[in-house]
Amino acid sequence: MNYNDYVPVFNKFKEKYKKDIELLLGVEVGYRKHLKNEIEEIINSNPFDFILCSTHTIDNIPVPSKVYFKGLSKEDAYYKYFNSILETNREFGDYNIYGHLDYISRYGIYSDNRVIYNDFKDVIDEVLK
Ligand SMILES: [Zn+2]
Repeated sequence: MNYNDYVPVFNKFKEKYKKDIELLLGVEVGYRKHLKNEIEEIINSNPFDFILCSTHTIDNIPVPSKVYFKGLSKEDAYYKYFNSILETNREFGDYNIYGHLDYISRYGIYSDNRVIYNDFKDVIDEVLK
């Protein structure tokens, strides 16, 4: 994303609509461990009002590619996903909310891709803490 373009365009609209609505400058961080320093530099050098952190990749494999699920049971794939969120929380806590915790269920290759709370209660409870 080109923040040098994003912020000025945002500011233009924030000013234009300031009588009608308060616009907040936001960004979604698809956290990846090897990009931690770059992510923090971007966050610290832009005036974000709101940061959404998300998990889109696990072990550098994009979840939507479905390669991630290959050879993994649903239980293993989903636990690994939720544990990666816990790891992100330990490494990177500079955000306001965590995005789409059910992201994994969009791309699963199983007969039932839903995240059933009771099946993953222990790790989901840790994530929600
Ligand atoms: Zn996202």
